[in-house]
Amino acid sequence: MAHQHTSKEFIPHLKELLRDKDGDEEVVDQLQDPAVEKIVDGFMRFKTSIFDQHPDIFNQLAEEQKPKFLVFACSDSRVSPSRVLDFHLGEAFVARNIGNLVPAFNQLRYSDVGAVIEYAVSHLEVENILVMGHSKCGGIDRLMELPGDGSTTFDFVDDWVKIALPAKIKVKAQNPHLSLEKQKAICEREAVNLSLSNLLTYPYVRKGLENKTLALRGGHYDFVEGKFELWEFKAVLTPTIKIPPCNFGSSDKDGDEEVVDQLQDPAVEKIVDGFMRFKTCIFDQHPDIFNELAKEQKPKFLVFACSDSRVSPSHVLDFHLGEAFMARNIGNLVPAFNQLRYSDVGAMIEYAVSHLKVENILVMGHSKCGGIERLMELPGDGSTKFDFVDDWVKIALPAKIKVKAQYPHLSPEKQAAKCEREAVNLSLSNLLTYPYVQKGLENKTLALRGGHYDFVEGKFELWEFKAVLTPTIKIPPSNFRSS
Ligand SMILES: [Zn+2]
Ligand SMILES: [Zn+2]
Repeated sequence: MAHQHTSKEFIPHLKELLRDKDGDEEVVDQLQDPAVEKIVDGFMRFKTSIFDQHPDIFNQLAEEQKPKFLVFACSDSRVSPSRVLDFHLGEAFVARNIGNLVPAFNQLRYSDVGAVIEYAVSHLEVENILVMGHSKCGGIDRLMELPGDGSTTFDFVDDWVKIALPAKIKVKAQNPHLSLEKQKAICEREAVNLSLSNLLTYPYVRKGLENKTLALRGGHYDFVEGKFELWEFKAVLTPTIKIPPCNFGSSDKDGDEEVVDQLQDPAVEKIVDGFMRFKTCIFDQHPDIFNELAKEQKPKFLVFACSDSRVSPSHVLDFHLGEAFMARNIGNLVPAFNQLRYSDVGAMIEYAVSHLKVENILVMGHSKCGGIERLMELPGDGSTKFDFVDDWVKIALPAKIKVKAQYPHLSPEKQAAKCEREAVNLSLSNLLTYPYVQKGLENKTLALRGGHYDFVEGKFELWEFKAVLTPTIKIPPSNFRSS
């Protein structure tokens, strides 16, 4: 459902239970906070109406994930693939960044994107990679507006969106007389095509294409009109499937057999079907909400969640379109401020905090995280098995070291569970290295929250990270008089 929930049905009941049980007033007090209420309420809705209703499905998912899709979507709060394509938990491994961009293979600069692709294709053996662009993309807007003199206004955003510079150049050259608005719309699709060709630079992707075990798909979601376009990138681009067809509702056929043929493909069917469910049950039912969202997004949350197909915050916390700007990477890790290595994470934080003015950053870990597992298993001799994954998960090395030192006698499983939470805390402290975050904390306009979703038990933990400097003690005090 896309409508904004205002119901706080669970909160009064939870307060009672918490008071009765452990009488923890400090926990009860936190439930007054609207952001805490939103998360607690969302999770309780998910738990009671979904998780507890389908023990068979969730037992299966807790064993392993077998997603057929890797999806690259924009962080924009209005484009969650869990909603727009009706992807259910377990169906899609998801990476979200500004502009849904895939840079070319680069171990030094883009280990996060590389880690997602390597893990999804080599380890999970997904059958499809879908790069999904969208209308009115702020990332593409910024790309199209970048001045020609190389000057920048953002620390990270400008550098990150320049990945799609070849798409901009092509669009400007081919359509010099179009309005900037129209050039942007074309560039949203061109940037998807560029990302699709960049995918070819990853050896796992090339191997999958050669073996015909992997398909590369482009998509474009128009949230103004409620339309979706889907195409496939082979060595050539197939004709585009437009959903709904322009003669949708009439009995005319446009007789495009090549498009009709593509609908036989189960992956195409899944996307077309998912979008049509979203369009008819949600988009068309709430024109007021979607008109408002088409004008601008005002999410209150920036959420870092793992790419794992079982942890989509749209489902687990019942975040609706427009409510959360979303970053998804392996292990939900936030590296410290680093313009040279991590411009994508930096771009999401900078854009969400400085431009969108989100009020909360939630870093959400989860049970049985493959990223944390790999971190815990990394050999001490520095040897690596993966091109990207090992390098990326090492961001959380301080958390691993801490857990190993504090809990030397715990089983590897239990150490990993501790580390899932420690890595969240490390990411929360790394957030402090971003000046926008520091400023938000100082002005009390931003809260940093940690979370942990246990998909085995259907439990969620939530805490806040407060970094407070106490008033300075000056010694000796100014009124000190030596006698
Ligand atoms: Zn976007
Ligand atoms: Zn994970």
